[in-house]
Amino acid sequence: MKYKNGHFYIEKVSASKIAKKYSTPTYVYSFEKIVNNIKKFKTNFKKINPIICFSVKSNANLDILKIIKTHNIGADVVSKGEMMMALKAGIDVKKIVFSGVGKTSNEIDYAIKKNILLINAESEDEIINIEKIARKNKKKVSIGIRLNPDIDARTINKISTGKKENKFGVDINTFKKIIRSYKNSKFLEFNCLSVHIGSQITSHQPYRIMLNVIQKCLNECNHKFRFIDLGGGMGIQYTKNDNLLNYKKYSSMIQKFLKKNKVKIIFEPGRSIIGNTAIILTKVTYIKKSGRKIFIILDTAMNDFIRPALYGSIHRILPYKISKNKIIKKHEFVGPICETTDKFLETSSFQKLTNGDLMIICDVGAYGMVLSSNYNLRPASPEILVKGLKTIVIKKRQKITDLI
Ligand SMILES: *Cc1c(COP(=O)(O)O)cnc(C)c1O
Repeated sequence: MKYKNGHFYIEKVSASKIAKKYSTPTYVYSFEKIVNNIKKFKTNFKKINPIICFSVKSNANLDILKIIKTHNIGADVVSKGEMMMALKAGIDVKKIVFSGVGKTSNEIDYAIKKNILLINAESEDEIINIEKIARKNKKKVSIGIRLNPDIDARTINKISTGKKENKFGVDINTFKKIIRSYKNSKFLEFNCLSVHIGSQITSHQPYRIMLNVIQKCLNECNHKFRFIDLGGGMGIQYTKNDNLLNYKKYSSMIQKFLKKNKVKIIFEPGRSIIGNTAIILTKVTYIKKSGRKIFIILDTAMNDFIRPALYGSIHRILPYKISKNKIIKKHEFVGPICETTDKFLETSSFQKLTNGDLMIICDVGAYGMVLSSNYNLRPASPEILVKGLKTIVIKKRQKITDLI
């Protein structure tokens, strides 16, 4: 995805051609970028040879999952729907892990019947329920327990999950207690210690602390696990101000850990695989000059893409066509919805824009389409996959008549 002669291209197709064919707003993915990210991820952890389970909650498009599946990647799912979608994409059941603090009995029963790799339990209550359902199914179920290592992933607060005030996982003492109490269960097999400390992590330091806490927990509970599931969370560069995670350091820390512990590592990356593989094509509907600000009103809104409104996250906005005519004045890029938070970005200057101009919202592949809604009865945007010169519809635009 880059500019050629001042015009934005996704692989070999210009953004304008896609907008003409499919209208706006539209999510557009690059096939090549997805494949490159997968290859890069594998190279970064080559010496560890992990099981990689893509976090389906970051992007649940069936065709995207099928691409991921062709690279022998499994799935980390957090609902029955995601499990069904992963299976529909052909993902190997022996590479599916099921996380989440509130799995219902129906969801647990489904997972048990499918014989997935691991159910990562997050409370003692859940363990009791899994054992009950396993007994009913007359099966020994492969279990992970999610440890809450009580550390600060130093990421934005709303996506931190590894502090003790977060609802995720159990503390070390509860962890040990569960192992002690259920070790001899005929229906539970404790195969995995799992963690996931947060998302958009750009420093290896929180991971270092995490590994130390895991080691401490392993030393204290004296149980042999087959897997250690380290979760996902690897950050990406949304803007130049974001640091990049030092994969070399993270990988060598894990290698050291593996010298002491004979286990298989599982990763659950979402954002780092899919985040920077997509953009939203959007058009300027109106330009409104108000005092010292210029509002650029786009045809995309928080229902299409909620990350800025939900987390205050920053996504670059680019013009399709570059011009040198710069206006130095505060610009606010907003959507049409009647909510003050329906706002994408503020900049201190931007090139001169006019109604109908085509724009690009960057890095929307993760937690983009999956978080969209029909708020204001706006139909869902389509998803287009670009592969060289080809454009493929991987999800159709929802019809307004489907909503009414
Ligand atoms: C969300 C989530 C992930 C993926 O996180 P990313 O930051 O997208 O890599 C992995 N594991 C669990 C348990 C999650 O909840």
